[in-house]
Amino acid sequence: MSDSVWIPPFRLLGARLSILGWVFIFAALAAVTGCGKPQKPTAAGEVSGYLCSACQVKFYVEGAVVPEFCPQCKGTGIQPIVGYLCAADGHLTLNIRRSKPMPCEQCGVQTSSVRRPTVAELEGAGAVRKSKADVCRSPS
Ligand SMILES: [Zn+2]
Ligand SMILES: [Zn+2]
Repeated sequence: MSDSVWIPPFRLLGARLSILGWVFIFAALAAVTGCGKPQKPTAAGEVSGYLCSACQVKFYVEGAVVPEFCPQCKGTGIQPIVGYLCAADGHLTLNIRRSKPMPCEQCGVQTSSVRRPTVAELEGAGAVRKSKADVCRSPS
C-alpha cells in the first residue's frame, strides 16, 4: 500500500535525472563533434564541376550556381564531377559521382576518399568556366 504512495516521487526523480543525463550526453557530443571550432565557411571562389553526358563537355560554375542545362548542347543530362583521391599516390581522379568504387587513373588502386576538385584541377581535366547565364534559363 505504501509503495503506491512512494512511486510517484521516485518516478519524478528518475525522469529529472535522465533529462539531466541527456543534456550532459548532448553537451559531450557537441564538444566531441567540434562545437567550439569555427564553422568552415563556403570558401569564396569555390566551384562545382559538371560533365554533360550527351556531348561530354566538362565545365564548372561558381559553387552557388546550379546549372540547368549544358552550355554546349543545351541538354539537361549534366552530372556533377567529383575528385576521387588515391591514398597510394595522392592523385586525384576526376569523374562523375558514381556508386561504384573508382580506381585511380594513375596507378589503378581503388580510391579511398572523395573531395570537391579545385579550379586548377578542373581546368587540368579540360573543364571550362561558365557563367550562370550560360547554364541557366533565368538570369536572376
Ligand atoms: Zn552537352
Ligand atoms: Zn593512385
